[in-house]
Amino acid sequence: MNEIVLQAERVTKTFHDGELETQVLKGIDLKIARGDFLALMGPSGSGKSTFMYILGTLLRPSSGNIEVAGKSTREVTDAELTRFRNQHIGFVFQFHHLLPDFTALENVLFPSYAHYGRETSAARARAIALLTRVGLAHRLDYSAKKLSGGQKQRVAVARAVMMQPEIVLADEPTGNLDREAAREVMDLLHEMCAAEGTSFLLSTHDPQIAERCDRIVQIVDGHLVD
Ligand code: ADP
Ligand code: MG
Repeated sequence: MNEIVLQAERVTKTFHDGELETQVLKGIDLKIARGDFLALMGPSGSGKSTFMYILGTLLRPSSGNIEVAGKSTREVTDAELTRFRNQHIGFVFQFHHLLPDFTALENVLFPSYAHYGRETSAARARAIALLTRVGLAHRLDYSAKKLSGGQKQRVAVARAVMMQPEIVLADEPTGNLDREAAREVMDLLHEMCAAEGTSFLLSTHDPQIAERCDRIVQIVDGHLVD
């Protein structure tokens, strides 16, 4: 078996809102190996986003542990996690989360800038190569807010793989796109998986999207089923 890049061990999550207690995840185990391309399914409200935030170390589980690139994140401080996450995990969200007033190129460069504190020529070359690969060589200097929905999501894909993370977590990356743009983004994710050796976990409730993944896992009543 390939090297495990991301592992969840007995992850639970309970939200407390005053008197109200919602147990969303009830003990989830998951192993993702290098190069895996997984779909995470489940009805709206089943906990897909919660689980992805926890896998991405953006949210702490109530119990259990997440290991990324062989490192347990339980004992790691939030400040260390920010740096660690930037190097090892890429994100694509349903609503792209680009910086609207920055250009496509600046958005893709951002993770590298955050890491090195400056723009390096190697990073610039890589960012341009990635934007070319996602079909946006002619939009490098467009501010993100002027791009179409599909183009924004392609910039987000380039940004997600910029630091050559072990894993990219994509939370309903095509949920906001029409069929054609969704298909293009899916093609790109597959291409990036093959070209960069990056693993992908993407959540969706679209069976057509899920069918194109190597493995489908589903959250059912707080548990994960293959
Ligand atoms: P999905 O992405 O599958 O639609 P979510 O992970 O967004 O599901 O939500 C799962 C459940 O957890 C929902 O019932 C939601 O209301 C609840 N939930 C999510 N975030 C919070 C929060 N910060 N506080 C309280 N409840 C939350
Ligand atoms: Mg969600």
